[in-house]
Amino acid sequence: MSKTIALIAHDGKKPEMVAFVKDHQDLLEHANLIATGTTGSYVRKTGLPVELKLSGPMGGDAQIAALAAEGKVDGIIFFRDPLGKHAHEPDIQMLMR
Ligand code: PGA
Repeated sequence: MSKTIALIAHDGKKPEMVAFVKDHQDLLEHANLIATGTTGSYVRKTGLPVELKLSGPMGGDAQIAALAAEGKVDGIIFFRDPLGKHAHEPDIQMLMR
């Protein structure tokens, strides 16, 4: 069964996420990809199918954290911008935990 991988990138890191996805497309195309809303819409442009959750500030990180808590996510690739201010910082902390 294919692994479920979650992709999340803060705004300043989205270009790096897209580059990462393109570099690892041959591996990621075998995974079941999910992503926070905006990150996912960028990843989709690479041609990979990805299930979009809510945008991060609207609860997407919390949705992915909940899936991780239930053991429904095998891995999370999170390109953080530690210098940015995020209204949903509590959700990010929950996800990191
Ligand atoms: P986004 O959310 O992909 O919807 O921008 C990511 C985040 O800000 O945590």
